[in-house]
Order: sequence, then structure tokens, then C-alpha cells
Amino acid sequence: MKIKFLGTAASEGVPALFCQCAICKNARERRGREIRTRCQALVDGELLLDFGPDTYMHILRDGIDITDVAYCLVTHAHSDHLYVDDIETRAAGFAILSPSTRPLTVMGGRGVKQAADRYGDGRITEEGNARFLLLHAFEPVSFDGFRVTPVPAVHSTEEPFVYIIERGGKTLFYAHDTDILPDETLDMICASGARFDLVSMDCNEGVKHIDYHGHMNVERDLVFMSKLRERGLADADTVFVANHFSHNGRLPYADAVKIGEEHGFLIAYDGMEIEF
Ligand SMILES: [Zn+2]
Ligand SMILES: [Zn+2]
Ligand SMILES: [Zn+2]
Repeated sequence: MKIKFLGTAASEGVPALFCQCAICKNARERRGREIRTRCQALVDGELLLDFGPDTYMHILRDGIDITDVAYCLVTHAHSDHLYVDDIETRAAGFAILSPSTRPLTVMGGRGVKQAADRYGDGRITEEGNARFLLLHAFEPVSFDGFRVTPVPAVHSTEEPFVYIIERGGKTLFYAHDTDILPDETLDMICASGARFDLVSMDCNEGVKHIDYHGHMNVERDLVFMSKLRERGLADADTVFVANHFSHNGRLPYADAVKIGEEHGFLIAYDGMEIEF
């Protein structure tokens, strides 16, 4: 399995549009990996994770043919993860699609359904070439060799999910946006028999003291890693990646890398690819 991190920031991006803080100034000066666009990833070049407002620039930057992507998992309906207006440009009048192009199936929980289901019957475009599939917690769905299990996240939206994604004997746990999952949720994951090869975990708050339940910081990431290891959901071979950084987390990429090296996790950056 291969994951490509297309965007690795929280909702404002780094630098944030209007922000003059030290982190944003640093990103404007150093550029490179200090620049972060809104969170999105692509698995095996086929399964899109979230459809935020930077999707358009991601596909241009990385030469992705988005019409090859037939499935998109959306974690929740916050604006950095879902920008429905761009999905709607698959409709006639915006786009001319070849008859062989498969519909885009966008999947998520109830909050995503409310935002995405423009025509109220599972269609996002009038023609149905972009359509919505409602997922339910711990009810796996299978398509194109993938098996996806939605897991309830701890985040302030209607029914947010994080996802367990399996294919070809490998398992990815895409955990954005969420705080540390409650023990009962972790126990339910255990009961499903999962073991993660790669975990992409929320590091929104960086080195800042966390005062909002819905994201994690470095300190909480370490607790999360321990909880997964204690339960056998992760082991010494599991790759941990910290992702979804906010400028408010006070953690530039260069500093984050040092912390990650010390504690055994990688720091996501825009364009990073990991094959596992
Ligand atoms: Zn987010
Ligand atoms: Zn800033
Ligand atoms: Zn969010």
C-alpha cells in the first residue's frame, strides 16, 4: 500500500492566509516543507481521503488525473476536509466526462451526508456521476480490493469518522481529525482483529497545551501510540506519522522532525509518499 500526503495542514493552512505569527512568517520565508496545504491524502493512487478546498491545486501540482479516482472517503464536514462546490463541477455544464469514466462515490457519516447530498437521494450532481454513500460506524464496506471500516472520531462535528483502510494484507489507520479515542472505541477496534502497518495521527496542536477536545498534540500523540501498542493494534514495525498541523500548534517542520526522531514517528509534509 502507498499513501501520498497531498496536504498536511489544519483549516487555515501554513502559512495561514492573513496571519503574521512567527510560524507563518517562518513558512513564508523558508517555504519548502514549512508550507502546508489543507489535509488530504491519496491511497494507492486510487482512493482519495477527504476533498478539501486545496484538492484542485493538489491534482495540478502532482499531475493526478482525478477522473481515475472513483472513491473518496471524507472524515467529516469541516471546510478543510470537504468542499462540495468543487465536487459538483463533475456535473454537466461544468465538465464533459467520457462514458467510460466511473462515477465518483463520496463516503462519510451523517454530517458529510448533510453537506454533500445536494439532491437528497444519494446524488451530489444532478446526473449522479458524483454520488454519496452513507457509512455507519464499525460497518465495513468493500470496493476495488479495499476494505474500509469507519470508526467514530472525537471531534466537534456531526458523526465524524476516522478510517481503517485495508488492502493486499496491509492496514492503514487514517486518524484525522480526532482526539485520543476512548478505550471502548479502541477495544472495538481490537475486537475487529485489526493491526496497523501505518498510523497517520492528528498533531494539530503541535507543542501547544491542548485546550480543545477534538485534536491531539505531540504529548497526546505519544499517549495514543502507547495505547495502540498496549492493545497490539500497533507494534515495533508500525510506522507512525504525525499530520494535520496548525500554525497555532507552534511547531515548524524543522523542529517537528527533531521531536519525531526522538520519539519514533515521522512528520508528514506536503507531497510525502510512504510505501509500506
Ligand atoms: Zn481538519
Ligand atoms: Zn500564523
Ligand atoms: Zn475538523
